[in-house]
Amino acid sequence: ATPTSIMVGTGRAAELGVLFRKGEALQALQGVEVVAFDKTGTLTEGRPRLTDLTVAAGFIEDEVLSLVAALETRSEHPIARAIIQAAETRSLAVPEPEVFSSRPGFGAEGRVAGRAVQVGADRLMIGLGHDVSAFADQAERLGEEGKSPLYAGIDGRLAAIIAVADPIRATTPAAIAAIHALGLKVAMITGDNRRTAEAVARHLGIDEVRAEVLPDGKVEAVRALQAGGRRVAFVGDGVNDAPALAAADVGLAVGGGTDVAIESADVVLTGGDLRGAMNAIALSRATMRNIR
Ligand code: ADP
Ligand code: MG
Repeated sequence: ATPTSIMVGTGRAAELGVLFRKGEALQALQGVEVVAFDKTGTLTEGRPRLTDLTVAAGFIEDEVLSLVAALETRSEHPIARAIIQAAETRSLAVPEPEVFSSRPGFGAEGRVAGRAVQVGADRLMIGLGHDVSAFADQAERLGEEGKSPLYAGIDGRLAAIIAVADPIRATTPAAIAAIHALGLKVAMITGDNRRTAEAVARHLGIDEVRAEVLPDGKVEAVRALQAGGRRVAFVGDGVNDAPALAAADVGLAVGGGTDVAIESADVVLTGGDLRGAMNAIALSRATMRNIR
């Protein structure tokens, strides 16, 4: 590729919401066969809201929500905001936790108002010795609806099942359709519950799903998609997407995402519009055709 052609390609790119941080990406993108997306904050808005809360026998809804929201004031996960907001909507007290510890990829635990409080995925609860089977039917139904089931534990007992739902970005369906129209496969990599991830994938027509991936497992998920020499582009927004962005054949960061993600990416989708991914690939193909 001559520098002049790359300049033409990248100039046009700016108009299409694509910023090439590395010139090689323009060349690498034409060979991509799979575009893998992070779910939360990339395919979705990353602004979940609480949709369901069911307490176990002996627990009071508002009390459970107040304790869990208090714990979440110390968490940086988008789910935390959904839970705090729900407590505020109900005008509940949200005290400061006395003890807090984050369990990345699992949830959080600590002490609030003298009570032991835990919140997170089923794998957190199972690891803490809770039996979540009483909520199995409900968790299954929530997952089928594309909602993410979470659990609360209080004073050593399973206290509630909570669900959050994160709206799909308005431009996501068109972005996926456009990538399919270019003849590529679409994959999703997420830490979320398998059933939830599969329901969302089915709804969006996504071809391959890697769910319940731990924060440091995203690289491995990209490598698995690269098996057999397939070229993989990965699109993500978060701090924990940075290693996967670097490991992919081409890493595309969502504009407005975290700085760490942007610094690890080859390409930035400046408007935060996922259709930029398709534009980048189409542009790469057109530019490389001109050069030859
Ligand atoms: P994702 O970006 O897909 O949410 P994470 O690795 O950040 O992936 O989290 C995986 C799962 O762990 C979440 O889907 C959720 O079930 C649980 N989790 C993580 N942090 C929290 C939190 N602060 N509050 C409740 N649940 C959490
Ligand atoms: Mg994300």
